[in-house]
Amino acid sequence: MSVKYETVIGLEVHLQLATNTKAFCGCSTKFGSRPNSQVCPVCLGFPGSLPVLNEEAFRFAIKTALALNCRIQELIKFDRKNYYYPDLPKNFQISQYDMPLSYNGFVDIAAADGRRKRIKIKRVHMEEDAGKLIHPKGENYSLVDYNRGGMPLLEIVTEPDMNSPQEAYDYLTKLKSILEYLKVSDCDMEKGSLRCDANISIRPEGEKKLGTKVELKNMNSFKGVKAGLEYEVKRQVSVLEDKGKLIQETRLWDAEKGVTASMRTKEEAEDYRYFPEPDLVPFVVDKNEIEKIRETLPELPEAKAGRFQKEFGLSDYDAGVLTSQIDLADYFEECTKLYPDAKAAANWLMGDIMAAVNARNININELGLAPAALVGLLKMVDSGSISGTMAKEVLAEAIETRSNPEDIVKKNGLAQISDKGSIEEIVKNVLQKETKSVNDYKGGKKTALGFLVGQVMKASKGKANPVMVNEILKKSLGE
Ligand SMILES: [Zn+2]
Repeated sequence: MSVKYETVIGLEVHLQLATNTKAFCGCSTKFGSRPNSQVCPVCLGFPGSLPVLNEEAFRFAIKTALALNCRIQELIKFDRKNYYYPDLPKNFQISQYDMPLSYNGFVDIAAADGRRKRIKIKRVHMEEDAGKLIHPKGENYSLVDYNRGGMPLLEIVTEPDMNSPQEAYDYLTKLKSILEYLKVSDCDMEKGSLRCDANISIRPEGEKKLGTKVELKNMNSFKGVKAGLEYEVKRQVSVLEDKGKLIQETRLWDAEKGVTASMRTKEEAEDYRYFPEPDLVPFVVDKNEIEKIRETLPELPEAKAGRFQKEFGLSDYDAGVLTSQIDLADYFEECTKLYPDAKAAANWLMGDIMAAVNARNININELGLAPAALVGLLKMVDSGSISGTMAKEVLAEAIETRSNPEDIVKKNGLAQISDKGSIEEIVKNVLQKETKSVNDYKGGKKTALGFLVGQVMKASKGKANPVMVNEILKKSLGE
């Protein structure tokens, strides 16, 4: 009989805070600058230089901790984490060890069975980033860029509460959504502003004791995290099924090969010889200060989704999708201010527009289609000047050419009335008014038709389909 295994996953996210200056000095945090152009004695670890805590980074940290439902530590203390590595000129990293900035929080995710699942946040603490090693291809040397050294980081650590790679993916997606709402980081994984390591173990179902933990690193996207974890689950199960023994180690995910490979056996906390940072005096944060920061918290995704359901009559699902990204939520809300049918706006957003956004791997604001432009398109559909099918084509062209849907309709002469009923109605009215011309036409003066066509076109503000106007007029005149 084969044993069924349960997967246990915990995640560690490193988040670069979007402050203007570094965590403990005044150096710029601008991304992409010339290597080693944003450094000073403090972040280069010169002897005698003294760190000063960046207040903005501290506020961002508290704000994030509050949004993740954490308790804030009463006494704020920093520690040195000692290790040697070429990208760390000080030979230690300022971090927080036994008294993290905050602890005991949670993030709720929608589990596979549709119910909510609570992922506990063990701790959120502040630390500083290391520099960056660059290994030129084919060369036998490495380069180091210290611009990143000393950038403010938050480490967000969960309890091992996730039981599948999918849950890990869902947690990360939700976490990123909250962080984007808070605007404390650009959360750009490609730039390294958001990095994720995972701890994963398996155990026979029903077993209380955790299995041997493997730390997984080097995942550069949420999909990479999921794929790396999926690979690890299979690998660990096969090791145990072959009566092998798992070892506690750090493994690297190789996205190209689709495998994980051992990097090193796990170091223990004592290897870092943590001790209190003597250059940063521990301090107490006034409770009123924390409350002031709490007041700056924006409406978070869940609250917004609830409001969208109530205010706009959206379904739970639609509200969840529209609030999953702050920019999308803001875009939708902007549309509702200009247009009464929120549900229609939601459908267009979640359909053609999100498809275009996802296909281009961009943000909705980069699409070049303002909410007013989308609303203009919806209004043209409502007024019957273009059909729903035409609207889809116009939208595609508007996105492709980054132009306004109304301009496209005008330019291409699309806004015509091609609806037979509407034209017949206009023709009827014109014929009732223009009895003289009707009699002229019936009396053999065929040129009167031109005049009548003109009158119909005028009555339709030039929008009626001329070919149809001719046909319907002739038919109505008994031809
Ligand atoms: Zn500096």
